[in-house]
Amino acid sequence: MKTIFVILMGITLAFFPVGVKKLFFKKDSLSKRMLAVLVPASFSLIAHCILLFVTKEFPAYLVYAFYFAFANWMSVGVLAFCVCYTNSDIHNKVIKFFVVPVSIIDTLLLFANVFNHFLFTIHKIQYGSGEFFRYSFSLFLVGRLVFTYGLFVYSFIIILKRFLKEPPTLRVKYYSFLIYLALITFINILYLGLDSPYNYSIIVYAFCFISSYNVLNRAVPNILIQHVLGRIADELKNGIVLLDNDGLCIYVNAFVKQNFECGKDEILHNEVFADYFSRRKEAILEPMDSFSCEVEYQSERKRLTLNICDYIIKDGESIVGRYYLIEDITALKNQAYEEKLLRTRDPLTELYNKEYFFEKVAHRLKYDRFTKYYLIISDIVNFKLVNDLHGKPFGDTILRRSADAIRKYAARDVIYGRLYNDHFIMLVPKRRFDEEVYANAFKNDMSYLQNFSYNLIIHMGLYEIDDLTMPVPVMCDRAFLALRSIKNDYKTAFAYYDDHLRQEVLKLQMLMNELPVALKTNQLKMYLQPQVTKNGTLVGAEALVRWHHPIRGIIPPGEFIEIIEKINIISDVDRYIWECACAKLAEWKRAGKTNLTISVNISARDFFTMNLLETLVNLIKKYEISPKSLNLEITETAVIYDVENQLNVLDKLRELGFIVEMDDFGSGYSSLNMLKDIAVDVLKIDMAFLQKSKDDAKSHKILEKIIILAKELGMKVLTEGVESDKQIDFLSAAGCDLFQGYYFSRPVPVNEFEEKYFR
Ligand code: C2E
Ligand code: CA
Ligand code: CA
Repeated sequence: MKTIFVILMGITLAFFPVGVKKLFFKKDSLSKRMLAVLVPASFSLIAHCILLFVTKEFPAYLVYAFYFAFANWMSVGVLAFCVCYTNSDIHNKVIKFFVVPVSIIDTLLLFANVFNHFLFTIHKIQYGSGEFFRYSFSLFLVGRLVFTYGLFVYSFIIILKRFLKEPPTLRVKYYSFLIYLALITFINILYLGLDSPYNYSIIVYAFCFISSYNVLNRAVPNILIQHVLGRIADELKNGIVLLDNDGLCIYVNAFVKQNFECGKDEILHNEVFADYFSRRKEAILEPMDSFSCEVEYQSERKRLTLNICDYIIKDGESIVGRYYLIEDITALKNQAYEEKLLRTRDPLTELYNKEYFFEKVAHRLKYDRFTKYYLIISDIVNFKLVNDLHGKPFGDTILRRSADAIRKYAARDVIYGRLYNDHFIMLVPKRRFDEEVYANAFKNDMSYLQNFSYNLIIHMGLYEIDDLTMPVPVMCDRAFLALRSIKNDYKTAFAYYDDHLRQEVLKLQMLMNELPVALKTNQLKMYLQPQVTKNGTLVGAEALVRWHHPIRGIIPPGEFIEIIEKINIISDVDRYIWECACAKLAEWKRAGKTNLTISVNISARDFFTMNLLETLVNLIKKYEISPKSLNLEITETAVIYDVENQLNVLDKLRELGFIVEMDDFGSGYSSLNMLKDIAVDVLKIDMAFLQKSKDDAKSHKILEKIIILAKELGMKVLTEGVESDKQIDFLSAAGCDLFQGYYFSRPVPVNEFEEKYFR
């Protein structure tokens, strides 16, 4: 019995130095307190073992003194440990001023008792086959026992108080400790009740201390970490699904529970993972590989876009588990979607914008190489007029309704968008296109225009895509070209890009390339068209440009003026013609024909590309001609950009003696208004405008009134485009001074002109 007990004690004791050594090097106060428990406990244990072998009375008293004293200091240590562990510093005072002094007195008394036995005595008892020294209970022993157990109870209360204060999560920190304290106290009381010399409770003590230290230092923090991490995981905006190494789900966080309405046992069978697993399978991956993909999850309550990725958890080389991270990317996707809308849609009609339409078409044509398609551009005829007459909001309504009509009538495989202004664009499979359907699509939905007197006419330009390698913008140009070919045609609604148009384009392209050369090599010639009085007396001529093309022959300006403007050489051409006119005037002057004038055309651009005043003054100086002989024709549309400055230039020119003529009067609808702002010497009315009207009587009236008005404003009136004697009779009766037109002569080369009039 004794041997077994001693071996057990020996084993227990063997742990102590290890613990002491470990604690000794630790800096934290908790470890220091633990050391203050462990050291007296070791000594008390050693003393107890020695007691079993002591046979003399004096050493027995001495060892008992050690045994009791160390046991007490150990209890003091436990109390100090509890105070430190619970951070309840107020109890430190009790320890310092009561517990420690009492314990010192107790220790002194215990050693005093070794010599005079006045506090307790010991006596030999027979236990089994051996003899042991046993103490007899005295008042002192009972008193100090109460004190020592009091310390335990005190410790217990401190821990309990803290335990009750803590939230459930943190209680784990204390309850294991409470259990140990209760266990130690219980075993101790049990030992007191038995009359055995073997105090097994000491072994329980040792066990409790070692394990409590481990629990407090390792297990408790781990549990806490688990709790805290669990909390953090629950707060996450992402889902976490944790699997053990057998692939069994052992944890899901709050995100998973809330969003998929299932726990860890069901989650892997939830549809959210069905898609993921099948995609993972398709990807043919090793079990160790990570895989991520986007999945859509739809429940009755919500629709989520998720990104799922799995990760292997390893401990060294071996796999200990796996977890899935489920990211909610719905907001991101929505934002991306909205951004895409902004980027791809026309804000007014919400149809595709130009760029995105082009992108879509390019994509379609890349993957669908066998369907025949039309690229169609629509145009609302005279839309500008609608805007001007009814206001922009009304114009916008028309555009939106037109967009609705396209949405409604376009088949599913039609791609459509808004190009700009009133131009919509569509990619329509050829077999689906029907002129009648498309013509009516816009008209059917015009019922909202009830009080709108204007009859909307829709034009469409179509390009049948025959070359898939062509960039979409070029296809678009072709559809536009077709559209433009019916610009002033109110009867034709559809125009197809064809060979003829292609030729036109090629021609245009060629002219564009050739014109700068033509200008440099004098292929541009000045023609003159006479300006006469009603009985045919010559007063001057208008200088009009002609292109003597080496291959194509004579090309009229109508075919190239626009190009000249586009390639920015209009001012060079003008200046060239002015120079020709001045040279001719100088020649005529030398020949004594000083009264003749030549009218030259001034383009809008000339005001900006050069110093107009200086250029013209330099010209008349250079050729020594009178400014009165060089007449300047401007159109009202030439004076619209920097009006104030332009009017200023015109005033100065007039002051210098130049005659300024208002060309093409009547072409815009604000002409009359312009007259009050632009001071000119001659009003040049174009017959062509009035000929458009069906009501002759009415246009005659208008002409009459305009002439009267011009006269009243002190202007001369010249009518151009006169082709019949009837017109001349009427116009001269109305007060027109001068005439220009085919009736008298077409524009002719200078030598022809001179031959006719100077011979
Ligand atoms: P515009 O200045 O109004 O010139 C008058 C146009 O009317 C000329 O056409 C002339 O040939 C045409 N015309 C004259 N009489 C009649 C007639 O009785 N009936 C008809 N139907 N037409 C008649 P053209 O020469 O083809 O010139 C067209 C336009 O080109 C001119 O219109 C002018 O705006 C522009 N243009 C011509 N030469 C020049 C130039 O040197 N510089 C600039 N900037 N523009 C020019
Ligand atoms: Ca003119
Ligand atoms: Ca004119």
